[in-house]
Amino acid sequence: MRRAQRCRAVKKTRRVLPGGKTVYHFRKKKTAKHTCPCGAKLNRPAMRIIKLRKLPKVQRRSNRALPNLCPTCARETLRKQARSV
Ligand SMILES: [Zn+2]
Repeated sequence: MRRAQRCRAVKKTRRVLPGGKTVYHFRKKKTAKHTCPCGAKLNRPAMRIIKLRKLPKVQRRSNRALPNLCPTCARETLRKQARSV
């Protein structure tokens, strides 16, 4: 096992090959879910930035105004902005 495979960010899975030999496959763990400041989980994939960059932009975040807020907070913020003007 290489030094890089010994950290806690790596997930180890056991695979049995057709010949009966057992090998370990290593992959990086998923990241924590993205959250709104209010604590609600956002509907976007939780994966490492390298993998996330390979997705199209529309799959990385919601395609509306204020994508970093949950729908409830976004609605409230837009309402406040409209009232203050
Ligand atoms: Zn929120």
